[in-house]
Amino acid sequence: MSPLTDDLGKTGLTVAGMLAALRAGQTSSVELTRACLERIDQLDAELGAFLTRTPELALSTAQAADKRWAEWRKDRAIPHAPLLGIPLAIKDLLCLKDVRLTCGSRILDDFIAPYTATAVQRLLDAGMVPLGKTNTDEFAMGSTTENSAYQVTRNPWCLERVPGGSSGGSAAAVAGFLAPAAIGTDTGGSVRQPAAFCGVTGLKPTYGRVSRYGLVAFGSSLDSVGMLCRSAEDIALVFPHMAGVDMLDATSQDMPLPEIRLNETRGLKGLRIGVPSEYFIAGMDAEVETTVRAAIAVLQGLGAQVIEISLPHTEYALPVYYLVAPAEASANLARYDGVRYGMRVGGRSPEETLLSMFEKTRGAGFGAEVKRRIMLGTYALSAGYYDAYYGQAQKVRTLIKSDFDQAFTQVDLIAAPVAPNTAFKFGEHRDDPLAMYLEDVFTLPANLAGVPALAFPAGFNRDGMPVGMQLMGPHFREDMLLRAAHAYQQVTDWHTRVPEGIPEGPIPRAGTKQTQAG
Ligand code: GLN
Repeated sequence: MSPLTDDLGKTGLTVAGMLAALRAGQTSSVELTRACLERIDQLDAELGAFLTRTPELALSTAQAADKRWAEWRKDRAIPHAPLLGIPLAIKDLLCLKDVRLTCGSRILDDFIAPYTATAVQRLLDAGMVPLGKTNTDEFAMGSTTENSAYQVTRNPWCLERVPGGSSGGSAAAVAGFLAPAAIGTDTGGSVRQPAAFCGVTGLKPTYGRVSRYGLVAFGSSLDSVGMLCRSAEDIALVFPHMAGVDMLDATSQDMPLPEIRLNETRGLKGLRIGVPSEYFIAGMDAEVETTVRAAIAVLQGLGAQVIEISLPHTEYALPVYYLVAPAEASANLARYDGVRYGMRVGGRSPEETLLSMFEKTRGAGFGAEVKRRIMLGTYALSAGYYDAYYGQAQKVRTLIKSDFDQAFTQVDLIAAPVAPNTAFKFGEHRDDPLAMYLEDVFTLPANLAGVPALAFPAGFNRDGMPVGMQLMGPHFREDMLLRAAHAYQQVTDWHTRVPEGIPEGPIPRAGTKQTQAG
């Protein structure tokens, strides 16, 4: 444990620790919430994890939670909400009623959410306390959070480096002990890659496990709402309350969540873990490879049987994703037209046409990466090219999915690195979109196949940056991922390390990047 742990006070507690302290009457939700809000006040000018803070809402929710805890203390027969009084950060891509929702975009600069997303509402119903909305790449398009139109988010392990993305604000908030739990979203890796870069644990659930209602759509056939915490145990406590079928999302599934038996005593005996050769490739960081292989050896030491497998179509995941996701995004983002949502530019003079108002609004409102995706997607869907690009990509997507189906007849879980590299410095890939897209090679396949995947820290590199690994499982078996990661976290302490780079005083800022207009 780092000496910083002492200074963390109540924010140093995990979700499990907070719940135990609340139950024992050793703390109150107001105390926990204040501790988080104070730490946000202290550190977020440097970290930049939050876009919007909701301190009044947080404190009034925490007060109500404490009232309910007091009632429970008087009569323990009254069941209390399962996560009563636990603070939560929410990625600014999900609606929270009456609170600003930007999606990291200028086009939604002054947009107020008219309702609450189902995933958020379920956690509020379970008793959680909303601290605020976290920074994201614009409309979740990116891998560094640098594409946010508003601010830079820094990696708590090294302030010169990116936190990953697009859920970089959520990952930095959890890693920096600003919140014990945060909602993220994962369309192509946006929960897992920032979790890996920031040394926290992040779950991308099965497609359809969590409702997408109130999540702003990016790639509708890929989008999933996930969870970031500091341990698999904490995710096992929080995630089930967010999951489940929802009348308001026709793609959500009515599948029971198997009981998450974290404390099974037989270790991982009998568990077959596949290691796909395609996930250890030339050009990846050698330290990532050795760290992940060492972690797999730990799982083996816990009784798992490790089997070399092949997912032969892995190399096509990147081109398939970068056709399917932009195609869906180009259709989804058509709604930002200056008429129905957010910002409007022009449209007031008599010479102006509707079309010129659309052009001006979208030209000024969207940043460079979003425009690139809209162009790629529109092109892939255009008449004459549809079959050659989008149609073909869908066929190859089916092959990628059948790789997983095939693998899961042989093994129970698949272990792999989350990303080929650890967190890079600001600006490293900013001017080379292809190099940036290549960073997603190991996370995209799970989204294309719709399978669940869990990222967690497997060690640190020579520079002291976290290295993440992921476990992927069959559809709807999040329970197996969490059990295996928990077993790993029982015998390792990577997930309990505290970043010591968080400074007390002000540090030089990298400068705020503005969305490129026009
Ligand atoms: N980095 C990927 C992209 O830019 C994935 C983003 C995500 O999962 N939201 O599309």
